[in-house]
Amino acid sequence: MSIAERLQKIKATIPHHVTLVAVSKTHPVGAIQEAYDAGQRIFGENKVQEMTEKQPLLPADVEWHLIGHLQTNKVKYIAPFVSLIHSVDSEKLLAEIDKRAAQNNRVIDCLLQVYIAKEESKFGLDELELEAVLDPNNISKYKNVRIVGLMGMATFTDNENQVHAEFKTLKTIFDLTKARTQSIDNVQLNHLSMGMSGDYQLAIEEGSTMVRIGSSIFGNRNYNL
Ligand SMILES: *Cc1c(COP(=O)(O)O)cnc(C)c1O
Repeated sequence: MSIAERLQKIKATIPHHVTLVAVSKTHPVGAIQEAYDAGQRIFGENKVQEMTEKQPLLPADVEWHLIGHLQTNKVKYIAPFVSLIHSVDSEKLLAEIDKRAAQNNRVIDCLLQVYIAKEESKFGLDELELEAVLDPNNISKYKNVRIVGLMGMATFTDNENQVHAEFKTLKTIFDLTKARTQSIDNVQLNHLSMGMSGDYQLAIEEGSTMVRIGSSIFGNRNYNL
């Protein structure tokens, strides 16, 4: 099946209110162009260097989403063009994004990544840290970022009940946080980014509004290339 066909197949399973981020990491520019020609405009990458290499080779109306862990010293490379950063997992990172956005005369949209998995390796804020970052007196200092939602990753497991429960937890946190931050200018929680190739249907059932799908569109990744 071609990339265009796989893309159409995935789209048919996603409701209209859910945004599809096509995760193109490790895949060549030609594959991204194929998805672009089939109508896809939003692409997700998890490495800064890969994103900055691909960005100038593709049409200017591509929306680039950074989905992986972001080191503060690399923010400056994507600040001129990135359209959404899914993976803000510390205040230090948020402060750096704000600074680099200001230097580029931009406001950069961000999601705060929340830790929901029962795995040591996953990044993200816990509920207390989330609350602290979003304290009105704190978050309003960062005039060049806008917090537009939350992101989370479930545990990598075959146990669907556990994945359901983790996504449900994040949706609950999302709803509470949205209610609590309603009057803060630079916080508008509209997006809940959860779900990947293996679990996006469960995520949508639990209230996801943005899914990040890679291998089901582009095929398996070969990290040895
Ligand atoms: C790679 C990646 C995805 C996509 O994973 P697939 O299983 O290929 O769909 C989604 N989110 C993040 C953060 C990723 O790093």
